[in-house]
Amino acid sequence: ARGVEGADACDAYVFMGGTFDPIHHGHLRTALELQQWLGVDQVWLVPSRTPPHRDAPGTTSEQRLEMVRLAVADEPALGVDDREVRSDRPSYSLLTLRSLRQELGAERPLCMVLGMDAYLGLPSWHGWEELIGLCHIIVVRRPGYIYEPQATMGRFTRAHETTSLAAVLGMPCGRVLMHELTPLSISATQIRQLVARGLSPRYLCPDPVWHYIQQHRLYGLNEGS
Ligand code: ATP
Ligand code: MG
Repeated sequence: ARGVEGADACDAYVFMGGTFDPIHHGHLRTALELQQWLGVDQVWLVPSRTPPHRDAPGTTSEQRLEMVRLAVADEPALGVDDREVRSDRPSYSLLTLRSLRQELGAERPLCMVLGMDAYLGLPSWHGWEELIGLCHIIVVRRPGYIYEPQATMGRFTRAHETTSLAAVLGMPCGRVLMHELTPLSISATQIRQLVARGLSPRYLCPDPVWHYIQQHRLYGLNEGS
């Protein structure tokens, strides 16, 4: 029994979606700290297929998925959920949440983890106002992003925000919970840029991920040479 004040391990399904292009220690540390804080057996990483809000990345969905698998292979507290990559539809969180809700049933708590940057961009997501009827949103701070919501987000947050973890874990959906973890100023953009410039991203991402990038010459590695 971990988690909230000696409570039994909770049965919430907690997941973090992303392009993971590539996965890095900012994602992994966030997921592990949340797994411990929430007292769930596992936090699931859900790589997206075609990212709807950005240019198609230079890597394939399968390559991004493989890097996530390599990154968590030795960590039982982190799992990989490949439902978006396996799907033949674009990766809309709404569709993912509906499929998860169907599997979990109406009562089990379902938590979607978002970094602050992703949370602030939520109103641009397909069907975003329906999401909170399917899951809780756990917002983690991210260095460089300050919570300065536009009017829409301000109203949304005020309507749903709680500071009580017990409240979240006692309900299937409907709450926004902001949480501060070890701040790690790492982004996949930074890693792609380092690799493209011939510099090592070592210690920003797991070694097996860096080896995979080298093997498959991702992100323009060695292109000029
Ligand atoms: P990119 O630079 O390509 O956008 P990224 O580092 O932001 O990559 P994503 O795959 O876009 O990674 O992020 C997936 C999720 O992880 C998002 O909710 C994002 O906010 C969160 N996240 C990414 N990096 C961090 C970090 N260093 N700390 C906390 N959350 C993070
Ligand atoms: Mg991002």
